[in-house]
Formats: sequence, structure tokens, C-alpha cells
Amino acid sequence: MNRTADYELTVIVPLYNEEDNISNLENALSAYLQHSVCRACILFVNDGSTDGSLAGLKDICSRNRDFYYISFARNCGLSAALKAGFDYAESGYVGYIDADLQTDPEEFDILLPYLKDYDMAVGIRVKRNDTAFKRFQSRFANSFRRMMTGDGATDTGCPLKVFRTAAAKEFPMFKGMHRFFPALLLLQDGARYKEVPVHHRPRVTGVSKFSIWNRMMSSFADCFAYRWMRKRYIRYRVADSNVGTGDGTTSASEA
Ligand code: UDP
Ligand code: MG
Repeated sequence: MNRTADYELTVIVPLYNEEDNISNLENALSAYLQHSVCRACILFVNDGSTDGSLAGLKDICSRNRDFYYISFARNCGLSAALKAGFDYAESGYVGYIDADLQTDPEEFDILLPYLKDYDMAVGIRVKRNDTAFKRFQSRFANSFRRMMTGDGATDTGCPLKVFRTAAAKEFPMFKGMHRFFPALLLLQDGARYKEVPVHHRPRVTGVSKFSIWNRMMSSFADCFAYRWMRKRYIRYRVADSNVGTGDGTTSASEA
């Protein structure tokens, strides 16, 4: 058990060299926590930053009761940071927002009510505030991924998402998989997600960490990996057992 177990929602914030965003994060996230629809905490994941991000995080975590952090020894990538967040989260729900605050934490409250009926709710950036080139890459990548995975997702790159923690912990995670959450969710029997329009703003400080190479080329290859995974994914349903019902499954002999 860790301290996230005391909350209904853990918001994961991955950071890699985002020292200039720390004070904005403190302001926006502490304001959100005061009136969030769920009792929520923040879990920063410092992904091996080499600037002052870790010192800044320790500072804001020392003065905000519901702020926590974990810090990697070296840079492992966004998917690794999110996996660590999923691994550590012990609240019923888990959320994700980027450290550059291109999406607004206040809008977690628009997504969260959908978790009553869905396993995941994801934002769609309606008026995207990125360069025309980046929007083009994203449109192209989204339509190719939709064709290859059949996930039907409009905007998998949107950095505002909430999950039932149990579903997020089941995602098979590899580098680059942060772009495939709707597709990964659909591997699970009967799982469903909801798309919800959200606002998007330009990055105001710091720089983007992704080049066209890792955004487009690696996700091209990952689409093939996903198709392999879908074919080989293990799903089983226990029909009988005498070991108890710790996983929530009612065994046939007990029913
Ligand atoms: N990030 C990370 N590890 C990395 C690269 C990025 O934790 O190796 C974080 C980064 O600090 C930010 C988020 O992932 O919080 C998304 O990165 P970015 O804003 O650069 O992506 P973009 O919006 O340009 O796609
Ligand atoms: Mg960004």
C-alpha cells in the first residue's frame, strides 16, 4: 500500500526537463484539487530530468499535502513514466495530464463522470493549438493507426485521460504504447471507452520532447506490434476454483 490508496483519483504527471513549468503546475493542480469531483492526489513522475525539475518537484511536494512524486534514475520515456504511474496508483481511478499543461486539469471533472459506465474516458482536442506541421503529422498518424488497429479513436495523443485503475494496470506496456491506450483497452473483454471534447492551448514554456522520427516512424512499427498482440493476447475466464474470489470473479462452485 502507498499513499495513493487514500484517494479516489491519482493524477499522473510525467516530466522530463520541465523546470519552467513547475510553478504553473503547482498553481493549476492545487487549484483543481480544492474542488475536484473525486478526492484526488497528484503523482509526478520525474523521467530522469537533467535540469532543475526534481528539485522543483520536491519543493512543491513539501508544501502541498496531496502532491507526491517518484523519480527515475535516468530517462526512460513517456510510456515508462505512465507505466510507473499505473503501477504505483492504488486509487480506484487514475488520470494523466502532461506537464506543459496544454490541456486543463479542470477538465478532469468533465471526463470523470464517464468512468461510472466506461473503463476509460479520453479527451479530443477540438481546437488544437500546435503548429500546422504537427497537426498534419497527428492527423496522418491517427488515421493510419485507426486503420491498423480498428480502435476508432479520434485523438489518441490527447494528454487528458482518465482510467479505471484496474483496466490501466492490465495494459501491456512497451515504449511508444502511450499512443495506443484506446487500442490496448479494447484487448480487454467487454471494455469500453468514451471520447469527450476538451480544450487545448499552446505550450507556453519548455520544448516538445518528440521529433517527427519518434512520433511517426516508431508508431508506424508499433501498429504492427499491436496487431500481433491482439492476435496473441491472453484472455481467460475462470469457471471453477476453490482458491477464493480475490480477483472479484465469483467461482461457479460458490455461486
Ligand atoms: N516526457 C517524459 N519523458 C520523455 C519525454 C516526454 O516524461 O522522455 C513528458 C514531458 O515532460 C511532457 C509529456 O511527456 O510532460 C509530453 O511531452 P511533450 O509535451 O514534449 O509532447 P508533445 O506535446 O510535444 O507531443
Ligand atoms: Mg506537449
